[in-house]
Amino acid sequence: MAGIRIDNLSKHYGAQTEMAAVADLTLDIKDNQFVTLLGPSGCGKTTTLRLIAGYLTPDAGTIRVGDRLVSAPDKVVPPEERGMGMVFQNYAVWPHKTVFENVAFGLRVRGMAKDDTRERVAKVLELVNLTGFESRYPNELSGGQQQRVALARSLVVEPEILLLDEPLSNLDAKLRERMRWELKALQRRTGITFVYVTHDQSEALALSDQIAVIHRGRLQQFGTPREVYARPANRVVADFMGLVNLLPGTVVAADSVAAGPLTLRLSLPRDLRVGDSVDVAIRPESITLAAAGGVPARVEEQSYLGNLSEYHLALADGTRLRVQTSAADEFPIGTTVALSVDAAQCNVFAHAVEQDAKPSPQDR
Ligand code: ATP
Repeated sequence: MAGIRIDNLSKHYGAQTEMAAVADLTLDIKDNQFVTLLGPSGCGKTTTLRLIAGYLTPDAGTIRVGDRLVSAPDKVVPPEERGMGMVFQNYAVWPHKTVFENVAFGLRVRGMAKDDTRERVAKVLELVNLTGFESRYPNELSGGQQQRVALARSLVVEPEILLLDEPLSNLDAKLRERMRWELKALQRRTGITFVYVTHDQSEALALSDQIAVIHRGRLQQFGTPREVYARPANRVVADFMGLVNLLPGTVVAADSVAAGPLTLRLSLPRDLRVGDSVDVAIRPESITLAAAGGVPARVEEQSYLGNLSEYHLALADGTRLRVQTSAADEFPIGTTVALSVDAAQCNVFAHAVEQDAKPSPQDR
């Protein structure tokens, strides 16, 4: 199996003066990892995946698989010589071929003997839980089963690396959730390096060993799901990874910030000074509510979500907060509650450069 080393990769579609689809991307994808490229629509995920696959030539930078240089501005190893499989959003299985024929195709074009082909297809169908479906046609399968045929077709040729571009986005919510577990298990069982593209942060959190958060073609953070969620590198990542309250605040001491009526004691980025303007990121689940004994807030909206309750609160200075707590708590609209924030779970960022023309730590 093989890892992928991407160094200073850039790609423009139009003139070089336009914003790059991928800008100076450096990423070290280790062997046998499930790595997700995550970011909003248009951030450059698919372009990165297509560069890795060999369908696009970079303007600058290199891609290596193991020790082998596969992409550079003057050299692109063609997709079929890269030992990679690809699975797309629309699964693209052939409607007039049976499951067996769909999966066997890649082996037939490689000239594999019939018996060996049968054996290999049987093994892969077992891997994706489709044993017994060999003679069905795609229109006799559910969406999830068709997606597993597409997976089997990519896996049967034993790629070292599997590239997946939003492969679950056409499935309904329940099936998506189940397929996440199946994909994760499949990656573990095969040891193949998976590079997965999605704009769905919950999918990325559930599946990945490492997540690369991309925004406007640039890598914002590369870390474990826990790192990018709990310790986002900057405001963009904090905002993208799930719900967050981003409040303007000020550093009031070496270890505390004030944001409206809230004062939070926590460890701050080293280069912040007393008086600096900051953004304070507070996750909805880092706030607890009680009848008394905290900062007073008025309940403006309340919503019961089954496993938890969500509140929209207004603080005395007009600051609005979203809060998620145990569904067992019940605070009706119009009542005053007392809130406490678990400051250890919060993050503080220097104001972004464009907001006050002051360099933030992540820009240095
Ligand atoms: P999505 O989640 O919507 O698929 P993405 O993150 O995969 O988005 P890309 O498809 O990589 O984004 O596109 C990155 C940028 O490059 C976008 O601004 C897009 O409009 C532009 N782009 C993509 N393909 C082309 C193309 N063939 N010609 C010109 N511009 C393109």
